Amino acid sequence: MDIPAMAEAVARGDRRMLARAITLIESSRPADRQAARELLTALPDRPAMRIGLSGTPGVGKSTFIESFGLMLVEAGHRVAVLAVDPSSARSGGSILGDKTRMEHLSRHPGAFIRPSPSQSQLGGVARRTREAIRLCEAAGHDVVLVETVGVGQSETMVADMTDLFVLLLAPGGGDELQGVKRGIMEIADLILVNKADGDLRATAIRTVADYAGALRLLRKRNQDPEGWPQALPVSALDAQGLAEAWTALSALYDWRRDEGVLARTRAAQAVTWLEREIEAGLHARLARDPRLADLMPDLRARVAGGTLPAEAAAETALDALLGTASHTP
Ligand code: GDP
Repeated sequence: MDIPAMAEAVARGDRRMLARAITLIESSRPADRQAARELLTALPDRPAMRIGLSGTPGVGKSTFIESFGLMLVEAGHRVAVLAVDPSSARSGGSILGDKTRMEHLSRHPGAFIRPSPSQSQLGGVARRTREAIRLCEAAGHDVVLVETVGVGQSETMVADMTDLFVLLLAPGGGDELQGVKRGIMEIADLILVNKADGDLRATAIRTVADYAGALRLLRKRNQDPEGWPQALPVSALDAQGLAEAWTALSALYDWRRDEGVLARTRAAQAVTWLEREIEAGLHARLARDPRLADLMPDLRARVAGGTLPAEAAAETALDALLGTASHTP
């Protein structure tokens, strides 16, 4: 594969090549990984506004991305939509998988939509999604939406690769009722109470007030300006409140950029991913090591038989692979 040519085509905004480039970075074949690293190094750095979006199934994420994304592309933005869904490998693509989702947005020339990479491990999915963000940015997308289902750990991963985090909620009910984990509330910059239309509108407005209060008690980020995190009502279906949501997000983004918060956050995120990459790479290399394969049957049998404690067995294996001198007391 001609990596410089691919990099050049991606940077030109060639969507077909962007899709191919993402396929390349999603591959776990060693030769492809090498090519992917070359590609990522060759691409220009064009940071976009990276927005993480989460919410339990049925809350209206795809409807929201469709109408919010359309509003943005019609205003001249170029929007990329990526997903982090560790379950998609098992269910055969639950998120963004079927073509009927985001029907209009997916056909718009200003938008690029990509389903979650089909890997069984959340860590793997998240790492590849982070690289896909870079590719989408290099291709000229100025807004990148990263969608995830509200199941806990994937939110943390997405928060570690985005600038802003949006949580979509349904009208009414407390956190428990909506299955929202406290940790997710803590990383949300903006809570959007969706379905604020028809009979649900009044409930939605009340829910916004409840969450606005709760958010301020829950988290006081001294790095953010007064009044954040925020809660707002939207109707993804009727495209109501979307402009307000965008104005709010843009204001927070601009503030964080001007105050240097954005740069510091991104630097810290990069270091987090360096550590994750080392961890994952180390694990992969050790798992492939033939010496471990030789050792394991015996160690497994002794640990299972109760003649050797698990910790001692693990230490034996690691000493054999890495040497005893590699760890300091
Ligand atoms: P997802 O699972 O979070 O992606 O949710 P969907 O976008 O598929 O929406 C789930 C259901 O909620 C669908 O039947 C939508 O039509 C409906 N829905 C989504 N947004 C709204 C909204 O703003 N108002 C109302 N009334 N229904 C909505």
